Parts: sequence; C-alpha cells; structure tokens
Amino acid sequence: MKIDLSGKTALVTGSTAGIGHAIAKGLAGSGASVVINGRGQDKVDAAVRKLEGSGAKVRGIAADVSTAAGCKALVAALPDVDILVNNAGIFEPKGFFEIPDEDWIRFFEVNVMSGVRLSRAYMQGMLKRNWGRIVFISSESGLNIPAEMIHYGVTKTAQLAVARGLAQLTQGTAVTVNSVLPGPTMSEGVETFVKDLARQNGQSVDEAAANFVRQHRPSSLIQRFASVEEIANMVVFVASKEASATNGAALRAEGGIVNTIA
Ligand code: NAD
Repeated sequence: MKIDLSGKTALVTGSTAGIGHAIAKGLAGSGASVVINGRGQDKVDAAVRKLEGSGAKVRGIAADVSTAAGCKALVAALPDVDILVNNAGIFEPKGFFEIPDEDWIRFFEVNVMSGVRLSRAYMQGMLKRNWGRIVFISSESGLNIPAEMIHYGVTKTAQLAVARGLAQLTQGTAVTVNSVLPGPTMSEGVETFVKDLARQNGQSVDEAAANFVRQHRPSSLIQRFASVEEIANMVVFVASKEASATNGAALRAEGGIVNTIA
C-alpha cells in the first residue's frame, strides 16, 4: 500500500513538538500540504523550518486553540482543510482532591473544546466536498482513567464521545471521523516528566521510563514507551484515502495496555 496525500491540506494542532510534530512530518512525507500550529510564532517558525528541510509542503499558523478567539483566528487564516488532526493536549498528574475548578476547565478547553470548535468550523466544508478526515488524538487514559489525573482521563473519554458523535453525521459520505489512542509515548512533554521522575528517584532516564511502565502500566504488552513515529504511523493511515472503511472507530496504538479484545 502506498499512501498518497498529494492535493490534500492537513492541519495538525499542537504540532511544534511531540506526537503532533511527528504526525505533521508523516502527513507531509505522504505528500499532504501541512499546516503546523502552536501558540508561539517562534516555535511555529522553527517547526516549519525543521520540516521544510526535507522538502515538505508546510506552513505555520500561531494560535491558541484552547480559546474561542484562537480557533476563530486560525479558521480565518485557513478557511478549509481536508484533514484535521485534533492533537493539542495537556496532562498533569495531580490528586483528585487537589484539582481546582480552574484546572478542570483549562483541561476541558485545551483537550476537548479545541477539537469541538475546529470540527464545527471545518467539517461542513468536508461534507460539502464529500471528502475529509478528522482524527482526535485521545489516549488509552480515556478508557483506563488514571487515578493520578482523573481530569485528564475525563477529557480523553470526552474526545472519544465527540469523535463518535461526529462520525454519525458522516453517514453516506466519504468523510470519516476517528480517534487514535496512544499509550505512554516519548514526546517532548513526556520526556520532561520522565526526566523529573529520574531526578527525584536518582535513576537514569531509561531506568525511570522502564520503571514507570512496570509500575503504572503493568499490563503493557510492549513494556516500553512508544515512539512518536509509532503513533504518527497510525494517524497517517487513518487520514489516508486507503482508510475509507474505517469510520467512528477508536484505534489503539497503546502497546496492548487495555486488556479487552474490542
Ligand atoms: P507535547 O506536550 O509533547 O506537545 C504538545 C504540543 O501541543 C506542543 O507543541 C504544545 O506547544 C502544543 N499545545 C499545547 N497547548 C496548546 C494550545 N492551547 N494551542 C496550541 N498548541 C498547544 O504533548 P504530546 O505528549 O505530544 O501529546 C500530544 C497529544 O497526545 C495530546 O493530546 C496528549 O493528550 C496525547 N497523548 C499523549 C501521550 C503521551 O504519552 N505522550 C499518551 C496518550 C495521549
């Protein structure tokens, strides 16, 4: 199978680093014209330069997708997309009794409302043109709610519900809406978290990563963090023309942590 996305425009939110950047690179590598997004112009410009080096068709738009104004500005600068990847997301381990309302609301704005607002803006155009792909980057934590960050888990479950609901609106068209569920993945954000753990426990980063998986994700079949490319590969596939029969699905790329068949 050869994935060819030439002629398609893709927007990946939160793609200056981490999983989002790997997705942008994967889509560009398959011929899509890719729009990088992040909050700060400097980081967006640097991420664009990084991909341009490999001959990709790429440009950047700085906008904070956690706000209505940020989404509005983004849509004004880019009125139509063929592929929307709702990737921007935040996480932070915090005990339930220490999570104030403000954190709950912030997590909901960044992790859920960004995708809601952008899907509302872009999906009607996809339906009119009768082709489109919307992919929500949820998490295995949307199925196995982590006790150490319940607010995060709730937003990741909410994304699954939004994606499935939107898929219902595509019936009879060539538009698809799916979710991809990564497990622990060595993105920049997670690397910082693992480095902190390593420092706290007097371990090397590799030891801390292996320990984290053993302790916190003991059912993992791969017993390691995934690479950002392993997640991006799944997203590029589901964004492709070849994935036309995959719609309304929650696709796992979580190393087998979730111990159920479906
Ligand atoms: P990361 O922190 O490494 O990168 C996140 C990117 O999003 C950065 O470029 C950041 O600048 C950007 N961003 C954050 N808030 C933004 C906002 N308001 N507007 C625009 N951009 C914003 O994160 P990551 O680990 O690559 O995670 C990406 C997605 O994957 C998230 O939705 C996360 O929940 C999900 N996920 C990650 C893991 C993991 O272990 N890394 C596991 C499961 C799911």
